[in-house]
Amino acid sequence: MTDNPLDRLTLAERAALTSGESLWRTQAIERAGIPSITLSDGPHGVRRQPDDGDHLGVGHSTPATCFPPAVALGSSWDPELVRRVGEALGRESRAMDVQVLLGPGVNIKRSPLCGRNFEYFSEDPRLSGVLGAALVLGIQSQGVGAAVKHFAANNQETDRMRVSAEVDERTLREIYLPAFQHVVTVAKPWMVMSAYNRVNGVYASEHPWLLTEVLREEWGFRGVVVSDWGAVDDRVAALWAGLDLEMPTSGRASDASVVKAVEAGALDQELLDASAARVLALVARAQPGEGTFDAGAHHRLAREVAGQCAVLLKNDGVLPLGFQDSVAVVGELARTPRYQGAGSSHIVPTRLDDVLTEMRALAGRELEYAPGYRLGDAGRSPELEEEARAVAARPATTVVCLGLPPEDEGEGYDRTHLELPDNQRALLDVVAATGTRVVVVLSNGGVVRVADWEGAASAVLEGWLLGQAGGGAIADILYGEVNPSGRLAETIPLRLEDTASYLDFPGELGTVRYTEGVFVGYRYHDALDAPVSYPFGHGLSYTEFGYSDLDVHTRGSGEELVVRVSVRITNLGDRAGQEVAQVYVAAPGHDVRRPARELRAFRKVPLEPGASTTVRFYLAFRDFAYFHPVRRRWTIDPGTATIHVGASSRDLRVAATVAMEGTKQPLPAAITPDSPLADWLAAPGGLDVLQREMRPPAETGQSHSRFLTEPALRMAGSVPVRRLARFPGAYLDPERLDKLADEVNERAGW
Ligand code: BGC
Repeated sequence: MTDNPLDRLTLAERAALTSGESLWRTQAIERAGIPSITLSDGPHGVRRQPDDGDHLGVGHSTPATCFPPAVALGSSWDPELVRRVGEALGRESRAMDVQVLLGPGVNIKRSPLCGRNFEYFSEDPRLSGVLGAALVLGIQSQGVGAAVKHFAANNQETDRMRVSAEVDERTLREIYLPAFQHVVTVAKPWMVMSAYNRVNGVYASEHPWLLTEVLREEWGFRGVVVSDWGAVDDRVAALWAGLDLEMPTSGRASDASVVKAVEAGALDQELLDASAARVLALVARAQPGEGTFDAGAHHRLAREVAGQCAVLLKNDGVLPLGFQDSVAVVGELARTPRYQGAGSSHIVPTRLDDVLTEMRALAGRELEYAPGYRLGDAGRSPELEEEARAVAARPATTVVCLGLPPEDEGEGYDRTHLELPDNQRALLDVVAATGTRVVVVLSNGGVVRVADWEGAASAVLEGWLLGQAGGGAIADILYGEVNPSGRLAETIPLRLEDTASYLDFPGELGTVRYTEGVFVGYRYHDALDAPVSYPFGHGLSYTEFGYSDLDVHTRGSGEELVVRVSVRITNLGDRAGQEVAQVYVAAPGHDVRRPARELRAFRKVPLEPGASTTVRFYLAFRDFAYFHPVRRRWTIDPGTATIHVGASSRDLRVAATVAMEGTKQPLPAAITPDSPLADWLAAPGGLDVLQREMRPPAETGQSHSRFLTEPALRMAGSVPVRRLARFPGAYLDPERLDKLADEVNERAGW
């Protein structure tokens, strides 16, 4: 007989295993020798708090390295780099006796207004999934678990604990679920964290379709589903749906309700046992704290990573700066960095670099500086502006640090606009009016609008939130020590009004309807071919790259389809740099409207000056398929797919076409009396049967149905035959209709 550790536990103890002991710990069952384990935020640093801490980032936590948050990591487009960050996070977790780190967050940026976009990677599911998986693999390589979150459709902060995201299945399958699926199947995270919100009316924490059917049965997830902190509304319903662990503790009363439900037969004990067993397995694989970490090495890693994440949006040649150039620095954010977002991910850094100090260090001398505006107060200050004007009037170039003040974005609330504060906009005009060349450096977790001010700047470097070493990384890029290689993981729109979810964000009366469907981010802008400030995938380098020799080779068909794409990338300039080759697929869609093209693969390629390399990608069935909303399966329509490779969704350099055989099965539904006339006529023999039977009543003297002529058929094609059968001129005996349908189906081979 195998020893099942559950057998040694009472019903109450099994229930206890499925909820927390405190804010961060699971329940121990000392009598049975089962220890508790510690879970901590996440995702870009370890927020280890004493047990009486808080989960909204208010209280203190042990200092840890603040790596670039996901908004920045997303722009690296570099899974290998993200994996290294994961390893470092894993090492710090081990050193701080944390068994599971609560991250990464792979929710899709549906709207640029989401207050927590800084914690998510991208508006694109493939990019989010690949980078999320890389972080999980890195963390878990150190014997520490990761908890991918927030499953699912948690795309806003407004009313986040109640709002119902109303999303159709195709949109969920194509946009909001694939990143989770990729992480779960490729990286096998120890945990998945359920979201606060409802999905189509049902709390994500109590959603059997999400937590059991999709996550476990379809994707094969074997780990523990943990609730977001306080997400469980009805503990029994949650267990029943497949949620294993309620966090944090909600007191012993909630455990008692589970025991009562089992005793009353309202909850199958097998379900409780399955969840308790999964928690036991998690506790068994968890490792005790061990070792220390090298804070200096991790800080250097944080700087290296940040240097790969910032995105050079625009550059007329002013960058990189020379060490001898006359340069001034303006902006409070140059000395008071914004480097992470507010809320549960907020950690206490081991060190904090700022742009001003780091630029001075690289230049090896003093650079003139003026703060120009106050943070936390959008009002203009004539004195600060005058001081900045005087400082900017002297040098050839002025670096102006702008961005969102901390209170403008954070967990728990959404933004209402995309603008920089008024005092910063005014400062930019004051500086530009001096005639100095302006280099704007941005610090922001969510997208800011650039359209109405970027004309004043010779260069714009989007620094996002770059973590504790971001100041050094920005200095490295400005002085050309690092060649920028970040690419936008989200579109910068011309205006908020141009974004797909504008009319339906953040919803109303407790509901948010995802009416834009799969047309999120660039999928929307590209479908309209509408202008944007900077497209998805965009980012400049100090060198140029060329694309050539695209070769596409197809093997197999249907679900076995494999398409090998190879392309040659050449560094055309005289500096080493990194290009991000992006593969977009435009595939046919007959029954549904599909995006103009979708990112399906990418690779970041380092190249010495003048060097070339051939990059190879393998695309598979799912890269061409869409989720058919009626058939409820992944489908390829017959036709021609185009494969583009390029430097952004709008900078497509080479293309090739591939013939698609299609995977459509015959329609699952046979003809019924309620099928429209067009379906009857499309079925083999359908026309014969109708011609034979559709007789006008004798007294009309007509011999043929008026509805079987070409023009009438076109107009009446959508009319169900049962209804048509009542019309004068198309009369059919209703009693016989069932039999006629059978006859047609039989002829069609059903
Ligand atoms: C957040 C989670 C976080 C948890 C624990 C919640 O408010 O949504 O992302 O992991 O708190 O701090």
